[in-house]
Amino acid sequence: MRVSQSFIPTHKESPTDAEVISHKLMVRAGMIRKLAAGIYSVLPLGLKVLRKVENIIREEMNRIGGLETFLPSIQPAELWQESGRWDFYGKELLRIKDRHGREFCYGPTHEEVITDLVRKEIKSYKQLPLMFYQIQTKFRDEVRPRFGIMRGREFMMKDAYSFHTDENCAKETYEKTKVAYSNVFKRCGLDFRMVEADSGTIGGSFSHEFSVLAESGEDAIGYCESCSYASNLEKTESQVPLDIGESELSAELEKVDTPNKKTITEVTDFLEVSPKNLVKTIIFQTEKELVAALVRGDHEINPVKLKNLIDCSVLESASPEVIEKTTNIPCGFIGPSGLGLKVYADLSIPLMKNFIVGGNEKDTHLRGVQPDRDFKIEKSGDIRLAKENDPCPKCSDGKIQIKRGIEVGHIFILGKKYSSALKANYLDPNGKSLPMEMGCYGIGVGRTAAAAIEQNHDEKGIIWPTPLAPFQVIILPVNYADEQTKEASDLAYQKLWDKGIETLLDDRKDRIGVKFKDADLIGVPLQLIFGPKNLKENQVEVKIRKTGESQLHPFPEILDRIEEILAPL
Ligand code: ATP
Ligand code: MG
Repeated sequence: MRVSQSFIPTHKESPTDAEVISHKLMVRAGMIRKLAAGIYSVLPLGLKVLRKVENIIREEMNRIGGLETFLPSIQPAELWQESGRWDFYGKELLRIKDRHGREFCYGPTHEEVITDLVRKEIKSYKQLPLMFYQIQTKFRDEVRPRFGIMRGREFMMKDAYSFHTDENCAKETYEKTKVAYSNVFKRCGLDFRMVEADSGTIGGSFSHEFSVLAESGEDAIGYCESCSYASNLEKTESQVPLDIGESELSAELEKVDTPNKKTITEVTDFLEVSPKNLVKTIIFQTEKELVAALVRGDHEINPVKLKNLIDCSVLESASPEVIEKTTNIPCGFIGPSGLGLKVYADLSIPLMKNFIVGGNEKDTHLRGVQPDRDFKIEKSGDIRLAKENDPCPKCSDGKIQIKRGIEVGHIFILGKKYSSALKANYLDPNGKSLPMEMGCYGIGVGRTAAAAIEQNHDEKGIIWPTPLAPFQVIILPVNYADEQTKEASDLAYQKLWDKGIETLLDDRKDRIGVKFKDADLIGVPLQLIFGPKNLKENQVEVKIRKTGESQLHPFPEILDRIEEILAPL
């Protein structure tokens, strides 16, 4: 590709709404343009990168027996009503009506559609297992679309779905997918971790996320410094803290005045105790009712764990207005004793004695509180957010460390959730009709490309890992109007394409400074700089974008060594 014939509209300035570097650089490098919030046009240079990601995914999915399909993006409401998700999915589902008033949605995911296809086509155990995948546009009406195509509303996803007769077979495919995904992200040149993820009400450890390590990541990852344990912090297991549970004598329950002391620090400073002696009461709203959750004063609630403990489908923090209206107690003074709401407690709470809680009256707390005696716990379990230096839940001596990551892939064992709801059954060898076991597996294509930029850039622009680079080599003639320079540049261009090396030739009339800036910005791994002075000595400057290292090499001989130079980049 010659730059004069291409469309790479680069910019000096970043868009004002861009918060992360990948968003800024993708716009500046002329890869994407915004059409509306969370909706982007992908320009030719951007598409070249997305296609690279897609092709790597395709090869790895094909290798484990995935069958590529292409499902409709517009899906009938009836299917979603059958699975029970039409109401459950909420505002993220973009609902539309056709000219007859029939309801549809724009697919945010495709479990319903693929399960419908399979229930109609697959009858016997002999036809299973099967894994279908597609690379397709999804629409999710995200509350806060941001970060460019990293969290868009319309975005490209590779989604795969597998169907099996039994759980073991589903697990085998799940394990194969783990390997395939690891290969994909390795081949994309990314520093990533496979982490245990929350599998919601299905339980078990049958959900993993693939997380690219980056400061800008929206997820926190808890990992052990000594063993291989790694999980999304939402899922990181916590144990009962060691500094709990001495069997002190029970104290009397005592009401204390705490005028205007609402926060943990205010109360504990005022009463001159450690936050470890206090229990926080936080009110949440489920689809059914308001509930109270308890954790120790120095801990935080993990809403994902709490949701699993309650086993509810909606869990949101209740607003102060709702809390005060429902309980008649001012926020800051709420406690579990006589509250009249179901109380869910962290597993450390039943072991604690003589602690402080809100007194359920303005300017009042209770001291010497005991579970069971002073309030009833509906259910207790691990509901706290793991912290740095917590003991590792898997090995004896490791401590939890926390890093930030970008979720680029997510794999999941679904069990019979969709096959039961949609009656996707098969006949077993005895002629018995049984629902299929399913798994589903997603990768964000655009998010993967953006994550690669988050990990590979400098102040000048993008530094593509070679497998994702839109071009591997860029030829930069100092002055393309100079006869000898033009001849050498054209020769290199021709020869490199003959070798199958994707090469960009900057044949514009611009000053070389402009060409250098653009080349650095768009991040092509190798630059060949042709100038009359070097050419007189039959030499060309070869510059590595990543390191800035530059060397003179004999020309044209060097053209036979370009693959060798590119290989480790
Ligand atoms: P998130 O927690 O980031 O919202 P998710 O868990 O809802 O993502 P999945 O349903 O697991 O997403 O989708 C599979 C993959 O699709 C994700 O791992 C991610 O790479 C990608 N993806 C999800 N939402 C978006 C989005 N809004 N924009 C771009 N990619 C996305
Ligand atoms: Mg996910």
